[in-house]
Parts: sequence; structure tokens; C-alpha cells
Amino acid sequence: MYLKDVVKLLKELIEIPSPLYEEEEIANYVGNWLERSGLEVEYQYVEKGRPNVISWVKGKYDDVKIMLVGHLDTFSIGDEAIEAKVIDDSIWGRGAVDMKGAIAAMMSAFSRVSKLNLKYTAVLGLVVDEEGKGKGSELLVTKVRSEKAIVGEPTNFSVSPLQSGLLEIELLVRGVRTHVALPEHGVNAYDEAVKVLNYIKGTHMFKDRGPLPYMYSTFVISKVICGEELWSIPKHCRVHVVMSLLPWQDPDVIFDELSKASVRLISDDCELLISMVDDDLGFWLVNWEETFSTLVDVIKSTIGKVHVSYMRSWCDANNLYHKGGIPTIVFGPGDLKLAHSDNERISISDVALASEIYYRILVKELEAK
Ligand SMILES: [Zn+2]
Repeated sequence: MYLKDVVKLLKELIEIPSPLYEEEEIANYVGNWLERSGLEVEYQYVEKGRPNVISWVKGKYDDVKIMLVGHLDTFSIGDEAIEAKVIDDSIWGRGAVDMKGAIAAMMSAFSRVSKLNLKYTAVLGLVVDEEGKGKGSELLVTKVRSEKAIVGEPTNFSVSPLQSGLLEIELLVRGVRTHVALPEHGVNAYDEAVKVLNYIKGTHMFKDRGPLPYMYSTFVISKVICGEELWSIPKHCRVHVVMSLLPWQDPDVIFDELSKASVRLISDDCELLISMVDDDLGFWLVNWEETFSTLVDVIKSTIGKVHVSYMRSWCDANNLYHKGGIPTIVFGPGDLKLAHSDNERISISDVALASEIYYRILVKELEAK
């Protein structure tokens, strides 16, 4: 497969919009493409209209040596242009870096390796719902057992054997309404929420550090709905908080501690409801160099030096590792900073390099001739 074919494939993938919950068209497209390339394809439905696409390159033996995983859904902010634009060495468009670039690289690598004589089997798992609750990868691991897996989220070709955890919470505060000029007669729901938020931000978990850059937990207030009238103090305040946790921080334990302490901070006459929206434990694959020795070899022969990084965002690796028991690392082209941004793009040479690296890993893992 030539570079222009990979670019064509990526442009087509971008131009089929696939925001969360609307993955069927792209799933059919990639399934047909893989079938035309001679691969076995199965659609695994997470729910109606939302299939994972699972594809096999089969060798002499059925043992699945490796699975490459990508997600078909993208972040979406509504009325965006769907046209993929090529400017110099980059392809711009929603999903370019997160993560249709890696998917194009994986598909082309699978297509290439399928023409060889293979000893073992590999799986390509293209899943839905990564931008949602991760139901795609959760279902995928009920079907596929693999010795190891690589998730192609953008890591700029560094290897990430460390995956962050997640804690998403919602605070609902009910205060006592009064005239804005006489606030001492009421309880301002916003002020109460801020008290709790400041307490959480100041807890010890945010001072903890790991050995790699950016290895700390983060705290982001991603949505606030507060107040009713301009001339009364807010009676209701609803705050959505997303925390990225270090691999060893247990979201259940943290939530328990935070909620108990927060309830005690709230003024009398005021109510606080704190609920967990989502949570997941991170992980740290200690012996990754042994398990992924083929990846190490290929990186050395293509890029030169192996860089290790920390995956700061939740991704399907959490499900593969915890729910599937599959040793998993994240390794893919492009910069995570560009994901979910207004400047989403990926470099064409990075996609080509990713395709070559995935291909060479498959050749080694499957002992292809
Ligand atoms: Zn992603």
C-alpha cells in the first residue's frame, strides 16, 4: 500500500462524521474496506446501530498474539465542517488525531500483513463509545482473548505503559434564597459549592507525583449551572468535576473520603448531594518491555530511541487491562494536545510511520514470512 492510499483512506474516514452514538456508517465503511482487503470481519453490536468492527488476520495457529485497538467515534461540537483538508504535511479535520490517523495506519498494516504467510493470528478491534462510557472495548474483550494489545491513541510515538484513572463527580447544592442586597439572610448555593470545590482541590491526592512528566492528578470544573434570578442569591448550584487520577489512586476510596468530608463543610440549612458519574482505575504495566519486546525492537529500528510516557486521558486501555486482563500499552501517532481542539490535525508522515511500525510489529509477532 502506498502513502497516497493511506492518505486517501484517512481522508475518507474523516469525511464520514462519527461523533459518539453515530458510529454505524463509519463501522460499515471500515468493515467493507477490510473485507475487500481479504480480512475476516465481524460486527459486534454494543447496541442498535452501534457496532464494533472486529477483524482477524489468521495464521496457521489460532493463538491471538496481538490485538491493535482504535475507536471509531470522535469528539463532537455540532456543526463542524466535515471536509478533510490537506495543508502541507498535515491532514486537518475532526478525528484526524483522535484517532482516525491511527486507525488508517492500523488498517493499512493489517491489509499488508494479510498478504504474507503467517504463523499466528492477530486481531484489529475498532470500537465505538470511547468518547462515552467505553462500552465498545468492554464488549470487545468478552469476545477476544489476546496475549497483548496496543491502543493507538496519540502518544507522539512514545510508549505509554502507565494509564491514568478517572473520577467524574457531580455536586448538587441547595441553598436558601434571599435578596442579593441582604445575602446574610440566606445561604448562597454557589459559595457553598466553592467551599467544597476548594476543599477537594486542596486534598493530598493533588500533591502526589509520579516519576514521569505530567504525572499528577488533575481537577477540572467542566460545567457549572448556577443561579435563577439576577436579584436573588443562587438557590441551586450544579457542578460537574472531572479528575484524572494517578494509576495507584483508587477512585472508589477517594470518592468515599471526599464525599464524607464535603458533607461536613456545608452550612446548616443547606443541602449537598455529591454523586459519582463515572470512575475507572488506572494501571501501571511494570514488565512492559518484556511483553512488548517486538515493539521495542521496531521502535529502535525505525525511530531510534524508545520514549516512555504517561497516558493522562482515560482510554480503552483501561478496559482492555482491567476487564479483559490483557497486558496493554498505548502507542500511536500525533499529539494528544490536538485532540478535542479546534486545530485537530495529524501529520501525514506520522501516519505513514505509524503504519510501517504497526506492520513491522505484526510481522514479528505473527512470525510472518
Ligand atoms: Zn481517543
